[in-house]
Amino acid sequence: MRALAVTPGMAGTARVRDDLREPDRGPNQLLVEGLLMGVCGTDAEILAGSYGEAPPHGDHLVIGHEGLGRVLAADADGPFAPGDLVVGIVRRPDPVPCVCCAAGEWDMCLNGRYTERGIRGAHGYARERYALEQEFAVRVPEALGTAAVLLEPASVVAKAWERIESVAVRCSSFAARNVLVTGAGPVGLLAALLAVQRGHQVSVLDRVQRGPKPDLVRLLGAHYATGPVARLEPKPEIVVECTGSEQLVVDVLCNTARNSIVCLAGLSSGARKVKLAASEFNDSLVLENDLVFGSVNANRRHYIQALHALEQADPAWLTRLITRCVPLSRFTAAFVRQEDDVKVVIDLRS
Ligand code: BGC
Repeated sequence: MRALAVTPGMAGTARVRDDLREPDRGPNQLLVEGLLMGVCGTDAEILAGSYGEAPPHGDHLVIGHEGLGRVLAADADGPFAPGDLVVGIVRRPDPVPCVCCAAGEWDMCLNGRYTERGIRGAHGYARERYALEQEFAVRVPEALGTAAVLLEPASVVAKAWERIESVAVRCSSFAARNVLVTGAGPVGLLAALLAVQRGHQVSVLDRVQRGPKPDLVRLLGAHYATGPVARLEPKPEIVVECTGSEQLVVDVLCNTARNSIVCLAGLSSGARKVKLAASEFNDSLVLENDLVFGSVNANRRHYIQALHALEQADPAWLTRLITRCVPLSRFTAAFVRQEDDVKVVIDLRS
Protein backbone atom coordinates (compact mmCIF):
# COMPACT_ATOMS: atom_id res chain seq x y z
CA MET A 1 0.00 0.00 0.00
CA ARG A 2 1.34 3.42 -0.98
CA ALA A 3 1.83 6.18 1.57
CA LEU A 4 3.72 9.46 1.72
CA ALA A 5 6.19 9.23 4.60
CA VAL A 6 9.19 11.04 6.07
CA THR A 7 11.89 10.31 8.62
CA PRO A 8 11.02 13.08 11.09
CA GLY A 9 13.81 15.52 11.82
CA MET A 10 15.62 14.77 8.55
CA ALA A 11 15.15 16.99 5.52
CA GLY A 12 14.87 15.36 2.11
CA THR A 13 13.56 12.01 3.34
CA ALA A 14 9.99 12.29 2.02
CA ARG A 15 9.11 9.47 -0.34
CA VAL A 16 6.21 7.37 -1.51
CA ARG A 17 6.58 4.05 0.28
CA ASP A 18 4.84 0.91 -0.90
CA ASP A 19 5.97 -1.38 1.91
CA LEU A 20 3.48 -0.35 4.58
CA ARG A 21 1.08 -2.89 6.02
CA GLU A 22 -2.61 -2.73 5.20
CA PRO A 23 -4.43 -1.12 8.14
CA ASP A 24 -6.35 -3.34 10.58
CA ARG A 25 -9.82 -1.97 11.21
CA GLY A 26 -10.70 -2.38 14.89
CA PRO A 27 -14.11 -2.06 16.57
CA ASN A 28 -15.66 1.41 16.21
CA GLN A 29 -13.23 2.16 13.42
CA LEU A 30 -13.70 2.85 9.73
CA LEU A 31 -11.55 1.60 6.90
CA VAL A 32 -11.09 4.65 4.68
CA GLU A 33 -9.76 5.05 1.16
CA GLY A 34 -7.56 8.16 0.98
CA LEU A 35 -8.71 10.50 -1.81
CA LEU A 36 -7.00 13.84 -1.25
CA MET A 37 -4.48 15.44 1.07
CA GLY A 38 -4.32 19.21 1.44
CA VAL A 39 -0.80 20.63 1.72
CA CYS A 40 0.01 23.41 4.20
CA GLY A 41 3.00 25.13 5.80
CA THR A 42 3.13 22.50 8.54
CA ASP A 43 3.69 19.76 5.94
CA ALA A 44 6.47 21.85 4.36
CA GLU A 45 8.13 22.14 7.78
CA ILE A 46 7.83 18.38 8.31
CA LEU A 47 9.47 17.76 4.93
CA ALA A 48 12.21 20.24 5.86
CA GLY A 49 12.89 18.22 9.02
CA SER A 50 12.04 21.04 11.41
CA TYR A 51 8.72 19.69 12.72
CA GLY A 52 6.96 16.34 13.08
CA GLU A 53 7.38 13.26 15.24
CA ALA A 54 7.09 9.55 14.42
CA PRO A 55 4.70 7.32 16.38
CA PRO A 56 6.30 5.72 19.48
CA HIS A 57 9.04 3.17 18.60
CA GLY A 58 8.75 4.03 14.88
CA ASP A 59 11.27 5.62 12.57
CA HIS A 60 8.90 7.15 10.02
CA LEU A 61 5.80 9.30 9.92
CA VAL A 62 3.09 9.07 7.28
CA ILE A 63 2.16 12.71 6.78
CA GLY A 64 -1.19 14.29 5.81
CA HIS A 65 -3.45 15.98 8.36
CA GLU A 66 -5.84 17.60 5.88
CA GLY A 67 -7.39 14.41 4.58
CA LEU A 68 -10.48 13.62 2.55
CA GLY A 69 -11.44 9.98 2.15
CA ARG A 70 -14.25 7.54 1.42
CA VAL A 71 -15.43 4.84 3.82
CA LEU A 72 -14.69 1.35 2.51
CA ALA A 73 -15.86 -0.59 5.57
CA ALA A 74 -17.69 0.29 8.78
CA ASP A 75 -19.47 -1.46 11.67
CA ALA A 76 -22.88 -2.58 10.37
CA ASP A 77 -24.75 -0.94 13.27
CA GLY A 78 -22.56 2.20 13.40
CA PRO A 79 -23.20 5.77 12.29
CA PHE A 80 -21.17 5.47 9.06
CA ALA A 81 -21.66 3.36 5.96
CA PRO A 82 -19.42 2.35 3.06
CA GLY A 83 -19.43 5.12 0.47
CA ASP A 84 -19.61 8.00 2.99
CA LEU A 85 -17.23 10.86 2.33
CA VAL A 86 -15.26 11.61 5.53
CA VAL A 87 -12.65 13.96 6.94
CA GLY A 88 -10.51 12.74 9.84
CA ILE A 89 -9.96 15.02 12.82
CA VAL A 90 -6.27 15.81 13.41
CA ARG A 91 -5.71 15.75 17.16
CA ARG A 92 -6.18 12.90 19.64
CA PRO A 93 -6.53 13.47 23.40
CA ASP A 94 -3.58 12.91 25.69
CA PRO A 95 -3.59 9.53 27.51
CA VAL A 96 -3.99 10.98 31.03
CA PRO A 97 -6.38 12.66 30.00
CA CYS A 98 -6.23 16.28 31.20
CA VAL A 99 -9.53 17.95 32.02
CA CYS A 100 -9.71 19.60 28.60
CA CYS A 101 -9.06 16.38 26.65
CA ALA A 102 -11.49 14.49 28.92
CA ALA A 103 -14.17 17.02 27.96
CA GLY A 104 -13.51 16.63 24.21
CA GLU A 105 -11.57 19.92 24.10
CA TRP A 106 -8.33 18.31 22.98
CA ASP A 107 -7.45 21.43 21.05
CA MET A 108 -6.87 23.03 24.47
CA CYS A 109 -4.83 20.10 25.88
CA LEU A 110 -3.20 21.14 29.13
CA ASN A 111 -0.21 18.82 29.35
CA GLY A 112 0.93 18.80 25.71
CA ARG A 113 0.86 15.00 25.51
CA TYR A 114 -1.73 14.96 22.72
CA THR A 115 -0.95 13.37 19.36
CA GLU A 116 -1.78 14.75 15.90
CA ARG A 117 -2.28 12.50 12.91
CA GLY A 118 0.25 13.22 10.22
CA ILE A 119 2.14 15.64 12.46
CA ARG A 120 3.01 14.41 15.92
CA GLY A 121 3.26 10.84 17.15
CA ALA A 122 0.57 9.32 14.88
CA HIS A 123 0.46 8.42 11.20
CA GLY A 124 -1.55 10.67 8.95
CA TYR A 125 -3.97 10.41 6.08
CA ALA A 126 -1.61 10.52 3.06
CA ARG A 127 -2.04 6.86 2.26
CA GLU A 128 -4.21 4.70 0.06
CA ARG A 129 -6.11 3.19 2.99
CA TYR A 130 -6.23 3.96 6.69
CA ALA A 131 -8.18 3.09 9.81
CA LEU A 132 -10.09 5.97 11.39
CA GLU A 133 -11.88 5.97 14.74
CA GLN A 134 -15.60 6.77 14.16
CA GLU A 135 -15.42 9.29 16.97
CA PHE A 136 -12.79 11.25 15.03
CA ALA A 137 -14.48 11.09 11.64
CA VAL A 138 -16.70 13.85 10.25
CA ARG A 139 -19.15 12.91 7.48
CA VAL A 140 -19.19 15.51 4.70
CA PRO A 141 -21.91 15.88 2.08
CA GLU A 142 -21.18 14.64 -1.43
CA ALA A 143 -22.22 18.06 -2.74
CA LEU A 144 -19.09 19.66 -1.26
CA GLY A 145 -16.97 17.44 -3.51
CA THR A 146 -13.25 18.23 -3.59
CA ALA A 147 -13.80 21.37 -1.51
CA ALA A 148 -14.41 19.13 1.51
CA VAL A 149 -10.61 18.83 1.78
CA LEU A 150 -10.77 22.41 3.11
CA LEU A 151 -12.62 21.28 6.23
CA GLU A 152 -9.52 20.96 8.42
CA PRO A 153 -8.14 24.47 7.78
CA ALA A 154 -11.72 25.79 8.06
CA SER A 155 -12.04 24.10 11.48
CA VAL A 156 -8.97 25.99 12.68
CA VAL A 157 -10.52 29.35 11.74
CA ALA A 158 -13.92 28.30 13.11
CA LYS A 159 -12.21 27.81 16.47
CA ALA A 160 -10.52 31.20 16.15
CA TRP A 161 -13.90 32.86 15.47
CA GLU A 162 -15.58 31.02 18.34
CA ARG A 163 -12.93 32.35 20.69
CA ILE A 164 -13.13 35.88 19.27
CA GLU A 165 -16.88 35.89 19.79
CA SER A 166 -16.57 34.60 23.33
CA VAL A 167 -14.57 37.70 24.31
CA ALA A 168 -16.03 40.39 22.03
CA VAL A 169 -17.53 43.37 23.84
CA ARG A 170 -21.21 43.58 23.02
CA CYS A 171 -21.87 47.08 24.38
CA SER A 172 -22.65 48.47 20.97
CA SER A 173 -25.90 47.73 19.17
CA PHE A 174 -23.85 47.77 15.98
CA ALA A 175 -22.44 44.25 16.01
CA ALA A 176 -20.66 44.44 12.66
CA ARG A 177 -16.97 45.20 13.13
CA ASN A 178 -14.06 46.20 10.97
CA VAL A 179 -12.17 42.98 10.58
CA LEU A 180 -8.66 42.63 9.22
CA VAL A 181 -7.35 39.27 8.07
CA THR A 182 -3.64 39.21 7.33
CA GLY A 183 -2.54 36.73 4.69
CA ALA A 184 -4.65 35.64 1.72
CA GLY A 185 -3.58 32.00 1.81
CA PRO A 186 -6.17 29.27 2.41
CA VAL A 187 -6.39 29.95 6.17
CA GLY A 188 -6.70 33.71 5.66
CA LEU A 189 -9.32 33.35 2.93
CA LEU A 190 -11.34 30.93 5.05
CA ALA A 191 -11.05 33.28 8.06
CA ALA A 192 -12.35 36.06 5.78
CA LEU A 193 -15.21 33.84 4.58
CA LEU A 194 -16.33 33.23 8.17
CA ALA A 195 -16.02 36.97 8.92
CA VAL A 196 -18.19 37.90 5.92
CA GLN A 197 -20.72 35.23 6.91
CA ARG A 198 -20.97 36.99 10.30
CA GLY A 199 -21.81 40.30 8.64
CA HIS A 200 -18.51 42.08 9.36
CA GLN A 201 -16.75 44.58 7.09
CA VAL A 202 -13.66 42.70 6.06
CA SER A 203 -10.27 43.64 4.67
CA VAL A 204 -7.69 41.04 3.70
CA LEU A 205 -4.09 42.16 3.56
CA ASP A 206 -1.45 40.35 1.51
CA ARG A 207 1.75 41.19 -0.36
CA VAL A 208 0.75 39.97 -3.79
CA GLN A 209 -0.91 42.32 -6.27
CA ARG A 210 -1.70 39.74 -8.96
CA GLY A 211 -2.92 36.18 -9.27
CA PRO A 212 -6.13 34.68 -7.86
CA LYS A 213 -6.00 36.16 -4.34
CA PRO A 214 -7.29 39.71 -4.99
CA ASP A 215 -10.23 38.32 -6.97
CA LEU A 216 -11.04 35.67 -4.37
CA VAL A 217 -11.19 38.41 -1.73
CA ARG A 218 -13.36 40.72 -3.85
CA LEU A 219 -15.70 37.86 -4.72
CA LEU A 220 -16.37 37.52 -1.01
CA GLY A 221 -17.41 41.17 -0.90
CA ALA A 222 -14.29 42.01 1.12
CA HIS A 223 -11.61 44.64 0.51
CA TYR A 224 -8.15 43.58 -0.71
CA ALA A 225 -5.28 45.60 0.76
CA THR A 226 -1.56 45.48 0.05
CA GLY A 227 -0.28 48.56 1.87
CA PRO A 228 1.13 48.88 5.40
CA VAL A 229 -1.24 48.05 8.27
CA ALA A 230 -0.70 51.54 9.69
CA ARG A 231 -2.44 53.07 6.67
CA LEU A 232 -5.64 51.08 7.04
CA GLU A 233 -8.63 53.27 7.82
CA PRO A 234 -10.63 52.75 9.93
CA LYS A 235 -8.34 50.84 12.25
CA PRO A 236 -9.32 47.19 12.65
CA GLU A 237 -11.37 46.19 15.67
CA ILE A 238 -10.81 42.48 15.13
CA VAL A 239 -7.71 40.98 13.51
CA VAL A 240 -7.09 37.39 12.51
CA GLU A 241 -3.36 37.20 11.83
CA CYS A 242 -2.69 34.19 9.60
CA THR A 243 0.88 34.73 8.35
CA GLY A 244 3.09 34.46 11.45
CA SER A 245 5.32 37.01 9.69
CA GLU A 246 7.25 38.62 12.55
CA GLN A 247 7.10 42.22 11.30
CA LEU A 248 3.45 41.95 10.32
CA VAL A 249 2.55 40.60 13.76
CA VAL A 250 4.22 43.63 15.39
CA ASP A 251 2.59 46.03 12.91
CA VAL A 252 -0.82 44.53 13.62
CA LEU A 253 -0.37 44.71 17.38
CA CYS A 254 0.53 48.40 17.15
CA ASN A 255 -2.25 49.49 14.79
CA THR A 256 -5.60 48.37 16.10
CA ALA A 257 -8.66 50.34 17.21
CA ARG A 258 -9.58 50.66 20.89
CA ASN A 259 -11.04 47.54 22.56
CA SER A 260 -9.58 45.45 19.75
CA ILE A 261 -9.18 41.70 19.62
CA VAL A 262 -6.19 40.18 17.85
CA CYS A 263 -6.15 36.46 17.23
CA LEU A 264 -2.71 35.14 16.25
CA ALA A 265 -3.26 32.04 14.12
CA GLY A 266 -0.03 31.76 12.11
CA LEU A 267 3.32 30.27 13.11
CA SER A 268 6.53 32.23 12.56
CA SER A 269 9.43 30.79 10.62
CA GLY A 270 11.93 32.27 13.07
CA ALA A 271 13.91 33.57 10.11
CA ARG A 272 13.61 37.24 11.10
CA LYS A 273 14.26 39.00 14.38
CA VAL A 274 12.18 42.13 14.94
CA LYS A 275 12.16 44.59 17.82
CA LEU A 276 9.11 45.12 19.98
CA ALA A 277 9.17 48.09 22.36
CA ALA A 278 7.74 46.26 25.38
CA SER A 279 6.72 49.32 27.41
CA GLU A 280 4.88 51.03 24.55
CA PHE A 281 3.27 47.76 23.59
CA ASN A 282 2.16 47.11 27.17
CA ASP A 283 0.78 50.60 27.65
CA SER A 284 -1.14 50.65 24.41
CA LEU A 285 -2.71 47.28 25.24
CA VAL A 286 -3.67 48.41 28.73
CA LEU A 287 -4.89 51.88 27.83
CA GLU A 288 -6.92 50.64 24.90
CA ASN A 289 -8.37 47.47 26.49
CA ASP A 290 -6.81 45.44 23.71
CA LEU A 291 -6.85 41.67 23.80
CA VAL A 292 -4.31 39.43 22.06
CA PHE A 293 -4.48 35.65 22.04
CA GLY A 294 -3.13 32.69 20.10
CA SER A 295 -5.21 29.89 18.65
CA VAL A 296 -4.35 26.47 17.27
CA ASN A 297 -6.09 23.27 16.21
CA ALA A 298 -9.80 22.46 16.59
CA ASN A 299 -12.14 20.03 18.31
CA ARG A 300 -15.17 18.24 16.87
CA ARG A 301 -17.50 21.19 17.53
CA HIS A 302 -15.28 23.41 15.37
CA TYR A 303 -15.29 20.88 12.53
CA ILE A 304 -19.10 20.98 12.58
CA GLN A 305 -19.10 24.79 12.61
CA ALA A 306 -16.62 24.73 9.71
CA LEU A 307 -18.79 22.29 7.80
CA HIS A 308 -21.77 24.65 8.09
CA ALA A 309 -19.59 27.55 6.89
CA LEU A 310 -18.41 25.58 3.85
CA GLU A 311 -21.98 24.49 3.06
CA GLN A 312 -23.14 28.11 3.11
CA ALA A 313 -20.27 29.33 0.91
CA ASP A 314 -20.50 29.75 -2.86
CA PRO A 315 -19.35 26.35 -4.20
CA ALA A 316 -17.60 28.01 -7.17
CA TRP A 317 -15.61 30.25 -4.80
CA LEU A 318 -14.57 27.28 -2.65
CA THR A 319 -13.46 25.32 -5.69
CA ARG A 320 -11.32 28.25 -6.83
CA LEU A 321 -9.33 28.03 -3.59
CA ILE A 322 -7.91 24.73 -4.81
CA THR A 323 -5.50 25.94 -7.45
CA ARG A 324 -3.48 22.75 -8.09
CA CYS A 325 -3.98 19.00 -7.73
CA VAL A 326 -0.77 16.97 -7.91
CA PRO A 327 -0.65 13.16 -8.20
CA LEU A 328 0.94 11.31 -5.27
CA SER A 329 3.58 9.90 -7.61
CA ARG A 330 4.80 13.50 -8.23
CA PHE A 331 4.24 14.81 -4.69
CA THR A 332 7.43 16.93 -4.68
CA ALA A 333 5.77 19.30 -7.17
CA ALA A 334 3.15 20.08 -4.50
CA PHE A 335 5.89 21.51 -2.27
CA VAL A 336 7.45 23.77 -4.90
CA ARG A 337 5.53 27.01 -4.54
CA GLN A 338 4.10 28.55 -7.67
CA GLU A 339 3.06 32.16 -7.95
CA ASP A 340 -0.66 31.49 -8.26
CA ASP A 341 -0.91 28.82 -5.57
CA VAL A 342 -3.62 29.12 -2.97
CA LYS A 343 -4.39 25.57 -1.78
CA VAL A 344 -2.46 22.73 -3.37
CA VAL A 345 -3.77 19.20 -2.87
CA ILE A 346 -2.29 15.77 -3.54
CA ASP A 347 -4.40 13.14 -5.28
CA LEU A 348 -3.73 9.97 -3.30
CA ARG A 349 -5.08 7.69 -6.02
CA SER A 350 -2.73 8.67 -8.83
C1 BGC B 1 -2.80 22.09 11.88
C2 BGC B 1 -3.30 22.00 13.31
C3 BGC B 1 -2.16 21.60 14.23
C4 BGC B 1 -1.01 22.57 14.06
C5 BGC B 1 0.17 22.29 14.99
C6 BGC B 1 -1.58 22.96 11.80
O1 BGC B 1 -1.08 22.93 10.50
O2 BGC B 1 -3.79 22.60 11.05
O3 BGC B 1 -4.36 21.09 13.38
O4 BGC B 1 -2.62 21.61 15.57
O5 BGC B 1 -0.58 22.53 12.72
O6 BGC B 1 0.72 21.03 14.85
